[in-house]
Amino acid sequence: MLVIMEPEATEAQVRRLEDRIREMGYEPHVMEWPNQKAISVTGNQGSGDRVYLEGMQGVFKVIPITRPYKLASREVHPENSIIQLGEARFGDGNVVMIAGPCAVESEEQTLRIAEEVQKRGGQVLRGGAYKPRTSPYSFQGLGEKGLEILAKAREKTGLPFVTEALDSGSVDVVANYADMIQIGTRNMQNFILLKAVGRVGKPVLLKRGMSATMTETLMSAEYLLSNGSREVVICERGIRTFANHARNTLDISIIPALKQESHLPVIIDPSHSSGQHYSVIPHALAGIGAGADGLIVDVHDRPEEALCDGPQALLPEEFSQLMYIARGVCAAMGKTIGFPQVR
Ligand code: PEP
Ligand code: MN
Repeated sequence: MLVIMEPEATEAQVRRLEDRIREMGYEPHVMEWPNQKAISVTGNQGSGDRVYLEGMQGVFKVIPITRPYKLASREVHPENSIIQLGEARFGDGNVVMIAGPCAVESEEQTLRIAEEVQKRGGQVLRGGAYKPRTSPYSFQGLGEKGLEILAKAREKTGLPFVTEALDSGSVDVVANYADMIQIGTRNMQNFILLKAVGRVGKPVLLKRGMSATMTETLMSAEYLLSNGSREVVICERGIRTFANHARNTLDISIIPALKQESHLPVIIDPSHSSGQHYSVIPHALAGIGAGADGLIVDVHDRPEEALCDGPQALLPEEFSQLMYIARGVCAAMGKTIGFPQVR
């Protein structure tokens, strides 16, 4: 249920409603817009208490929510959510550019690539310190040392960074350093992890599971939002299909569908979808054309030496080429991408 307050409802009336909702055994989530407050109620079965709540002081009306996801649904939040990270604004109609190495390999490598990303128009740095690898013999990431390196890169470039939390045990350490916490595709339905990340209350980048439906993806976003996250960005990174010409199949069709169903920003990862550098720009442009709010792109200046996902990394100059072409596509759509001015 969504309880819409009268525009002139007082703080005390909102508090009283919150208390009442808790006494009923449900969870209230206060939402605020200019001149408007609402309380989203979760944990209830059906909307049997609707008439009772509608009778309380300060309440304008109570709307039943028909979707299984509530806080993620457009029914409770008709406008697009805008999520600010440094100077980047996800969901404001422009295209945010996140870029960086797949993995933090060393301080030198990360600082070099971060500077390239920054001077070529990237707004947010990416880089994994804890890496989920298919093989236990592959590079597993530098752990906390990698987070320290990312923090140094942030200091040097001014770029906020997003990095993955692999398990609930490392959420707090990741949250201590990161501006945005990434949930990887393999963990999208790790509900214990989602709850732990929700509780720290930092912005989250939620990658779609490689075989997750849209509803399952939004239910995972709901886990985050109902446990304390206020800022969740969803990322389409390609799904498993019979096709084997690309690492994954970029599911462009989910972008308009997600934006219809949810107020949360949606970005795409053309690097992990394509798996090959030559497909990254086409996938990225397709995503922008379909209405994505941003891109997350692997960039490496020495891809042949990369410890993770070298074949899909763009060279810095290829990243500039992407920015250049994407700027044209964005201009045709009345949007900007990355920093408006390359520094
Ligand atoms: C990543 O972005 O570093 C990553 C591991 O991606 P995914 O979870 O989409 O495979
Ligand atoms: Mn990768």
